Amino acid sequence: MVIDRTIVVVGSINADLIYACPRLPRPGETVIGGEALRLPGGKGANQAVAAARLGARVRMVGSVGDDEAGREQVRGLQEAGVDVSCIRTTGAPTGTAIVLVDQAGENQIVLSLGANACVDVEPRALVGADAVLTQLEIPLAAVEAAAALADGLFCLNAAPARDLPAALVARCDLIVVNEREQAAIHGLSEARLVAVTEGAAGATLRAYGHPVAHAAPPAVTAIDTVGAGDAFAAAITACLARGEAVEDALSFACAAGALATTRRGAQSALPTYEEVTACLQGAS
Ligand code: ADP
Repeated sequence: MVIDRTIVVVGSINADLIYACPRLPRPGETVIGGEALRLPGGKGANQAVAAARLGARVRMVGSVGDDEAGREQVRGLQEAGVDVSCIRTTGAPTGTAIVLVDQAGENQIVLSLGANACVDVEPRALVGADAVLTQLEIPLAAVEAAAALADGLFCLNAAPARDLPAALVARCDLIVVNEREQAAIHGLSEARLVAVTEGAAGATLRAYGHPVAHAAPPAVTAIDTVGAGDAFAAAITACLARGEAVEDALSFACAAGALATTRRGAQSALPTYEEVTACLQGAS
């Protein structure tokens, strides 16, 4: 069985340029790196692919440039089964993230928003959505428009961290953050439900600031944590859209995040519904 719900992801679409380097450069310093890779990315696109792997019907709302990088990202989303009819091509170039990764797996990221700065949300894009999932790599106005138009579940992965208008916090059925983002954002204790991810320790659900549930991920051998947060956000949204209890949704999302760490890359590492359920059954 799969997650038979329609999820609209309103978010970023990037081409990630990933450079392996012996250590991260200091200001003014040049470091000779190793292999350079171009991979599909952007929290929005990653979460759209994550939800599609879980078997949800997914529509992506976003913007790319009229360039090869943009066409490549849209093709990749389409191949993953995502409905790309609400992705606009704009005059700005496709968003690009430069990701430096040292030998210990520590990273530094600079994101040039490019076309992501042009994302806006038309009412027709959200028609039929059981859930809307968005993040903060697009203009806040687009997130607020999605919040105002969504008539089902509205979930915000508040990353990268920034303070949020109180009205937006009040509209969110769920906010997903990691521990660093939780510490950086004021006012989360006013939120109905916040899922705080804690890496290998799992995740905690807080209702109006009070812990109400915790889940630990199944034991896995983590080799690359890129994409874990995106797998988690998509999985918990999909489970809640299906009406599952918050505790079950949390456990499922923790397992999805854990499985994403067992393979390299972001989109290439995202697990299927069957993989997550098999992992949970093995762990019980
Ligand atoms: P982010 O990538 O946004 O910082 P986290 O690192 O907290 O997010 O990871 C999201 C989820 O992925 C965690 O809640 C957990 O379930 C799973 N996860 C992340 N790292 C590990 C790990 N090393 N081992 C097992 N599970 C992990």
